[in-house]
This record gives sequence, structure tokens and C-alpha cells, in this order.
Amino acid sequence: MWTSRCTSATATRRRAGRATASTSTRPAPARCTRLPAPLWEAFLATSAPGGPIGFLTERLDELVEVEEAIAYPHASDPSEGHYAVDRRALRRLLLAGLEDVVHFGAEFAAYEHTADGRVVARFVDGGRVEVDLLVGADGVGSRVRRQYLPDAEPVPAGVVGLAGKVPLTAETRGWVPAVLQQGMHVVVDPGPGSLFTAAYRPPPGARAALAAATGRAAPAIDLPYLLTAFVTAPRHVPPDLDTDDPDALAALVDGLTAGWHPTLRRVLASCDPDSRGASAFVVAPGIPVWEPSRVTLLGDAVHAVPATGGLGGNTALRDARRLTRALAGDPADLVGAVGAYETDLREHGAAAVADALAVRDQMLAGGVWRTRAARAWFRLCARSATLRRATFADGDRALSRPRAWELAGT
Ligand SMILES: Cc1cc2nc3c(=O)[nH]c(=O)nc-3n(C[C@H](O)[C@H](O)[C@H](O)COP(=O)(O)OP(=O)(O)OC[C@H]3O[C@@H](n4cnc5c(N)ncnc54)[C@H](O)[C@@H]3O)c2cc1C
Repeated sequence: MWTSRCTSATATRRRAGRATASTSTRPAPARCTRLPAPLWEAFLATSAPGGPIGFLTERLDELVEVEEAIAYPHASDPSEGHYAVDRRALRRLLLAGLEDVVHFGAEFAAYEHTADGRVVARFVDGGRVEVDLLVGADGVGSRVRRQYLPDAEPVPAGVVGLAGKVPLTAETRGWVPAVLQQGMHVVVDPGPGSLFTAAYRPPPGARAALAAATGRAAPAIDLPYLLTAFVTAPRHVPPDLDTDDPDALAALVDGLTAGWHPTLRRVLASCDPDSRGASAFVVAPGIPVWEPSRVTLLGDAVHAVPATGGLGGNTALRDARRLTRALAGDPADLVGAVGAYETDLREHGAAAVADALAVRDQMLAGGVWRTRAARAWFRLCARSATLRRATFADGDRALSRPRAWELAGT
């Protein structure tokens, strides 16, 4: 599952327990100026309400629940709302109508420049394609970046995520704590890590809506589940852990949560084995400044964002939007357009990375006194909307706030 905005980058995250909430009241379908109307409608029909963001202790005591109106002050505009969307559904919707443009199954190897300044992309199968502009959108292991900006290789982010999904069936809904069955929650623990949970409850008919919008059979995106992600420091993960072994992953999480409430441990133990995974996150070491050219980069390829922020995909979408707009300008000034795109990319990419690292630090902070202080503050926030607003609302500083170029038309 992904949290997503239709237009711009955004967040599932926040600092010191500031985490954005999601739309608990589904916005009325409205025209999205960035997606063709049928696909926007399908996006709404296939995405789930995010719900509030809350904080609990490892003994299941509720600390604070932050309402969407505070964490998402822009949510009156549906395209600025916060949605939980199945990654497969979003991908299919974004690809819809581009079937004759997007080609699969070709592994990029390297690029070279031609005498007249164009770029040739070479593929592992021997294929070559000559282009005006090469965009490396090939993720954290980007070969385009390795060739273009060899010093910008991502580095370990000092955080490991141990994830899994609990299917929300009639049986599990009977005992999974009701508070966890909606929205997103963080279990704040003084021990070796924290737990993030997010409930995915797709609207009825999501699968059929996706099939109708894309004209092909849809995957099973209509099965609700609870995502769990235990976040810990690498030192708590055995170096020889077999990350393909669900039993080993389950045992590790169980050991790291030994003093937790039995129901929380039951939740963690009940993850579908096939859904279990471990990720040692990486992060961009900084986004360098370079001269624009006919090669550029997008998304994790240039600003790897640790998943602690829930921002990487949103930031890649914002990049794509910005680049598309820049390229719609004067075709004679291609390199100028790329330069304008890269200036904005550095600004919002660096902000997303900084935010994700701040969330990482809070989730790994631990310590009895620090945790007590955080909990005391959350309890105060629970009693005062003013304090909740001061603590959890980003206002004009929000990463999700539309940038000037986003507001300046489509
Ligand atoms: C557990 C987890 C949870 C996350 N949750 C969220 C969330 O809630 N919200 C959010 O916004 N982000 C989230 N993210 C981050 C998000 O998944 C990434 O930031 C996002 O996918 C980056 O998009 P991208 O297009 O830059 O790269 P990718 O999605 O990695 O896409 C790169 C593509 O390039 C292809 N490729 C790679 N090398 C080559 C090659 N040599 N030749 C051809 N093709 C190639 C790959 O196959 C892939 O299809 C999460 C990440 C993780 C790990």
C-alpha cells in the first residue's frame, strides 16, 4: 500500500510524532486537473480513506489521535487529499492509455552522446535507442546515476523496516484492536524500535473499477489488511538473518517486542507469511549540483528517500509532474527546461530526504526518559486542539503544500 496524493508530493509521516492523517471523510469526486477525468474517478474508486493518525504505547494505551482537519488542512481540495492506494492500482492507472509508449523487458546498460549532442541509450540485449533526452527513473540502483553522477550513490540510512500484512477478515476484525483498524498509528516504545501500522480498507467495487478503467482484469486490490512495519536500528538485526525466511522474520520481531501487550504481539505474529519482508533502507548522501544536459534523473534514482517518511513515491510523482511541465515549454531550450526542473527537484527532494531522516530519528530514539516526555506531550495534545495543531499541522511549511509552479496552472 502507498499513501498518495494525486498531484504533488506528500506524506504519511511527520516529525516527533507529527504524522499526517488521512481523509477520514472521503472528498466528493471532483475534477483533478492533472489526471484525465476517468482515471481520476477510478483513482477515487480504488483508493481507501486514510483515516486519522494516532499514537499508542506498547501496552496499547492510546496517547493521542490527530484528526485529518488538523494534519491535512488542505483536504478540502480533493486533489490535495490523502489517500491509501494499492501500489498495483496506482501503477495501472498511471500507465493507462500509454500502452503504445511504454515498453517493458529492456534492461538499460549505459548511455553515450552522439556527435550532434543527442543521447544513445544502450540495452543489455544489444538494443540502442537514440533520444533527445534520457531520464534515469531507474530507482535506487540507477545505472544512469552511476554513470552520470558517480558520487551520488545512496548510502545506508541506518534503519531497517520489518514489514508484514495482517488480512482484515471477519475473524481478525474480531480481535485486532479497533483503533488499529482505521488510519495510521505509531506505537511509541522505549525499546529497540517503533511500530508503524496503516489500515487499508478499499471501497467496495475497487477491483471492478480498476478493471473498468484499464480495460483488463485487475489484481485483488479489494482485500482489506493491516500493514505493520517495525522499524529498528541495524544493530538489532542479526547479520546472517535470512530475509526470505518468514519464520525468521517473525521470530526477530517477536523477540524485539517481548514486553509488548499480548494483543499487539498477536497482531505482529499474524502477518501473512508471504507478506513478510525486511528492508535495510538507503538514503541519498545529498543532492549535488550539476550542469543540466540531455541526461537527467528522477525519483529514487537521484534522491533516495528512506521509507520512514512514506514520501519517496510521492516525491517521484512530483518530479514527473515538474519535468513534464518543463518539457512543455520552448522545444529549442531543452537543456534550459531540464535545468529548471532540476532546480525544483533539488529543493523538494532534499526536503523529503530530511523529513524522512527526522522521522527515522524519532522512531529510533527510544530511551525511557525521552519516551516518557514524548508520551506526556502526546497526552497533553489529546486534550487540546491548539496543541495538536501546533504539534502536528505543517501549515505553509508542509512538504505536501503545492509549490508555486504547481499552482500556476496545468
Ligand atoms: C516498504 C516500503 C514502503 C513504502 N511506502 C511508501 C509510501 O507509503 N508512500 C510513498 O510515497 N513512498 C513509499 N515508498 C517509497 C517508494 O516505493 C519509492 O520511493 C518509489 O517507488 C520510487 O519511485 P521511482 O520511480 O523513483 O523508482 P522505482 O519505483 O524503484 O522504479 C524504478 C524502475 O526502474 C526499473 N529499472 C531499474 N533498473 C533498470 C534498468 N537497468 N533497466 C531498465 N529498468 C530498470 C525497475 O524495474 C523499476 O520498475 C515505500 C518504499 C518501501 C520500500
